[in-house]
Amino acid sequence: MTSITLHNTKTRKKEALVPIKPGEVSMYVCGPTVYDRAHIGNARPVIVFDTLFRLLRHVYGADRVSYVRNFTDVDDKINARAAETGQSIREITDGTIALYLEDMDAVGALHPTHMPRATEYIQPMVDMTADLIEKGHAYEAEGHVLFAVESYADYGKFSGRSLDDMIAGSRVEVAPYKRNPMDFVLWKPSDADTPGWASPWGKGRPGWHIECSAMAHELLGESFDIHGGGNDLMFPHHENEIAQSKCAGHDFANIWMHNEMLQVEGKKMSKSLGNFFTVRDLLDKGVPGEVIRFVMLSTHYRKPMDWTERKWKEAEATLRKWRALVDGVEASEVSASVLALLSDDLNTAGLIAEMHRMANTGDAGGLKAAGALIGLLGDDLGDWMGGEAVDLSLYSNALSRAREQAMQTKNFSAVDDLKTALTEAGVEVRMSKEGVELVPTADFDPSKLEGLL
Ligand SMILES: [Zn+2]
Repeated sequence: MTSITLHNTKTRKKEALVPIKPGEVSMYVCGPTVYDRAHIGNARPVIVFDTLFRLLRHVYGADRVSYVRNFTDVDDKINARAAETGQSIREITDGTIALYLEDMDAVGALHPTHMPRATEYIQPMVDMTADLIEKGHAYEAEGHVLFAVESYADYGKFSGRSLDDMIAGSRVEVAPYKRNPMDFVLWKPSDADTPGWASPWGKGRPGWHIECSAMAHELLGESFDIHGGGNDLMFPHHENEIAQSKCAGHDFANIWMHNEMLQVEGKKMSKSLGNFFTVRDLLDKGVPGEVIRFVMLSTHYRKPMDWTERKWKEAEATLRKWRALVDGVEASEVSASVLALLSDDLNTAGLIAEMHRMANTGDAGGLKAAGALIGLLGDDLGDWMGGEAVDLSLYSNALSRAREQAMQTKNFSAVDDLKTALTEAGVEVRMSKEGVELVPTADFDPSKLEGLL
């Protein structure tokens, strides 16, 4: 079986994936808090871990991989949005989940095996919280239940911080009922206006971190293979997930993977800089979902990625060329070299370079197979091409013939007309002694070629 190596944040090393249950892989990825549309940065972990999911399915078999990605549907941001808009919490969370899935479908993300909503797992969260109190790792204070960070000797080890540094550098709310300022909430009280559930500590709701620990345990068991998320979640979220789960006696995740952040045109994305946009904004602007996916996969997941207009325009031109090349072609077997690239800590950038090589050497079957492995060039994402992919070789042949004739007759008007029409349709015309090459640009509009030949 293909050996997959992944960079483990826990050990800061690349390690071979050795599944806990031989032949089966389990993975948990932190999902969105559902009160607003996903921005372009949110799409990065979705596409990265979808690509890993596809690789795992390819290597282990589609029914041998369990992938859990949660929805956080209880959160103070959701409550605030409900108060602002007058919508009910359920309307906001149901509506946002539907939009989220629509946007992630558009970038070719398969649905995970399980997509649990936090509110459907309140009882396991209450049970885990009670268990942590009983084991001396948590305490009740003024209707809250807090995790006692000093009760876990390894607290901070995962993210590489000491407790003292954390306290000095943190902006955590210092609450009088906390024994240590870094103690974090497992359960908090709800008033009449906020959603709440019955618990041994009164009506309340769970803290964010306990959600993932409880849902991962319910769906994947005491230990599982891979836990993923953006590296902005490493601290405090993942540090806290580990503390809770380990103290509850679970082995929890073996390999921890984190994707780096996304910038826009070299700057941190922010509403105040005016460079903040959602996946839907891009789709509405006419950037195809497949192009978004391609751009994301062109940078390795552990490197910061820069979203630029130039990149997506280039990606669009490349995909047009590739789609024309693989049109009607049957995919060949995924080659060992392609699989080895992706299995090396998800080297998608290397794989895309290899796809360029295959396109240049005319290996259309290999190109299609490599594309399928990472969710590109399939029928599901092909609608943006506008029906049938246009075979530009018809036009380059016609142009070559016209040029040969013109050499004899010394009348170049037919050649010029054809060149003008192609340029107007958004095709770059490259003519040299070797021949004619036509390259579709991002402005390529196949409808403008109709009736030309
Ligand atoms: Zn989480």
